[in-house]
Amino acid sequence: MTTTNRAAVLYGAQDIRVDDRPLPEPGETDVLVSMRSGGICGSDMHYFAEGRNGTNVLRQPTVLGHEGAGVVVAAGARASVAVGTPVVIEPAVPCGVCASCLAGRYNVCPDGYCFGSPPTDGLFSQSVVVPAASVHELPAAVPPEIGAVIEPLAVAVWAVERAEVAAGHRVLITGAGPIGLLVLQVALAAGAAEVIVTDVNDARLAVATALGASQVVNTAREPLDATGIDRLIECSGSPAALAGGILTLRPAARATVVGQARPTIDGLPLGFLQRYEIDLVTAFRYANAFPTAIRLAASGEVDVRSVITATFPLERVADALVAPVADPTNLKVLITY
Ligand SMILES: [Zn+2]
Ligand SMILES: [Zn+2]
Repeated sequence: MTTTNRAAVLYGAQDIRVDDRPLPEPGETDVLVSMRSGGICGSDMHYFAEGRNGTNVLRQPTVLGHEGAGVVVAAGARASVAVGTPVVIEPAVPCGVCASCLAGRYNVCPDGYCFGSPPTDGLFSQSVVVPAASVHELPAAVPPEIGAVIEPLAVAVWAVERAEVAAGHRVLITGAGPIGLLVLQVALAAGAAEVIVTDVNDARLAVATALGASQVVNTAREPLDATGIDRLIECSGSPAALAGGILTLRPAARATVVGQARPTIDGLPLGFLQRYEIDLVTAFRYANAFPTAIRLAASGEVDVRSVITATFPLERVADALVAPVADPTNLKVLITY
């Protein structure tokens, strides 16, 4: 086992440095994970570009990263995971005792913390200590070298659960980034009969077509012309995509907001929602979604490699953090350690 621990530490906007950090020691119920893959998320890109993500502002140097997988190399006396186990890390750690946690809605726990969400250090570090309860074993079909993609896949699994996609549904997905493309595959696995995908990026729409979208629409060029849609899953964060998507829904349908929402938006067709009793729901992270995500990836029902477009060594994390902007054909960019 190595004794150095290289870690990508964000000091401020546009200032990330790969430092040597002390090798962390697992507590009684923790495991020490030697990292194999990390994933760059939109939130990491926001922290790097602006020193903040939404309302969370970077106030002290913090190791970035909340998508990651590796191999357990040490375990505390009361940790129930064996050394040598390949694992993906579920990065949000809930308090476990509040009303939300006790109701099984631990993803909306107001008292938890999340690795890589400042000031909590994240996973872009060669070695990390996490609670044993926060890791999920990876099967041989999902090696830890690509296991980081299980985290965004869990987001997609939870989105499709919240959307209540059922067999035969006609689904509209707005936004064909990594999350939208994973939602597409999970919706098809859930039995969707038809999935329409919109974006403003032709390269992303081409991937959607390859992954089984029935129809793709570049809304920068042509208006979305659909009616009678059962389920809208909004994955772009664009208020116009949400409003336009809602107007394609049939009566008593459901719209689910997955893409990071603005604090407030104008143009929400609230009267239309009410007139047709369309449910507007939201999804935040995931609850109990990692096992399903791992199963879908292992079975091949979801091709996690389909969204991986680039891999950078940890030492080049600054390049990795701008890669999706520098090259808009990029989808999920991975870090190797
Ligand atoms: Zn993420
Ligand atoms: Zn809680």
